[in-house]
This record gives sequence, structure tokens and C-alpha cells, in this order.
Amino acid sequence: MSHLHKPAQLPDTARLRDFVGAIADLLDRSSEEAEILREGGELLRQLVAVDDWLPEAFAVPSPQRYQQFLLHADSRERFSVVSFVWGPGQDTPIHDHTVWGLVGMLRGAEYSQPFRPDATGRLVATGAPTHLVPGDVEAVSPTVGDIHQVRNAYTDQTSISIHVYGANIGAVRRSVYAEDGSIKPFISGYSNTVLPNIWDRSADLHKN
Ligand code: FE
Repeated sequence: MSHLHKPAQLPDTARLRDFVGAIADLLDRSSEEAEILREGGELLRQLVAVDDWLPEAFAVPSPQRYQQFLLHADSRERFSVVSFVWGPGQDTPIHDHTVWGLVGMLRGAEYSQPFRPDATGRLVATGAPTHLVPGDVEAVSPTVGDIHQVRNAYTDQTSISIHVYGANIGAVRRSVYAEDGSIKPFISGYSNTVLPNIWDRSADLHKN
């Protein structure tokens, strides 16, 4: 009997698998950004409310730079799910997304500082940074505000947020911005070469 059980160290990826299915269902029935951000935001809030499902390999920081681990890419590239892993004190450049995105805090905390171009095209910080703690969800898009800079709120611990975007975000042509207003083209790619296996449902045999 025991050989039928999964090794204990593998987390149950049902939560992530169900989330991926729910986002696909949402995109099947809606193409309205406000609705996607609202309903997708609620789904993401539920996903990050419990921190027991992210496989360890996609939670490991790098001393060099923040990590972007692809967890799932939709077969039609309508959406992607990514774990962002921040080492102590790490931050992004100021960047945009060009598509809708949702950020859900899973572990630790981060600051997101929004920016907007002023009349001369120079970027100015708009308001105070948003402080995200576990369970919080924030939206970005060209409609609701697309340019920001994100950093780990901690200088002494790893933080992890789960992101969903309305495209295969690692392949999207977008931009990073210097404080002087100069713009550089940017395609982020991903940090991982293998994906988590969210499709093995053999553990379902032991559930009802
Ligand atoms: Fe971002």
C-alpha cells in the first residue's frame, strides 16, 4: 500500500492546479479587464491565503537577483502564473507590464511604488508605496496603472509573491525606465528551466 503514497516532502499542488483551471474558466467567460481583475483577484486572494502548496524549488532566492519562476503558462498564452522570490533587500528596476497583472503576497512582504510620466515624459512617483503582506492582492495594467518598482520589504529575509498576468509574461516585449526618463526594451524570460508538475493527480485515489 505504502508505495502508492506520494513522498511526504512533495506539497499537494491541487490548490495551484485548481487556481489555473479557475483562471482559464474566467478567461473563457470574460474579456473585460475590470471583471478579470476583480474575479481573478478574489481567486488569487484565496490561493495566497494558505502557504502550503508552493514546491520548494520555486521558492529559492538567488544572491544575484530576484527570481521569476514560471509555475504555469496557458497553452494559448492567455495567462501565466509566476512566483517572484525576493532575496533580502532585492528590488526590480522601474518597469511596465503592458497587460493586466495581479500580485498576491504569499510569504514575507514587499513594497510596490507606482510611477507615472509627467507632462515632460519624466517619471514621477505617485503616492506612497503599497505595502503588501501575506493575503494581500494588488493589480497592475495600462488602465489601472502599469509602471512600478517593487522591492522586498525585508533586508534580512526572503519574500515571495505569486503573480498572474494576461499573457505569457516572460515573452512579452516591455520596458524598464531609468529615473532620467530613458527607456530600455525588456523581455524578462524566466529563472527556471523546469516546471512544477501540477498535473499528477494520482493522490486523488486517496481522496473522496
Ligand atoms: Fe511588476
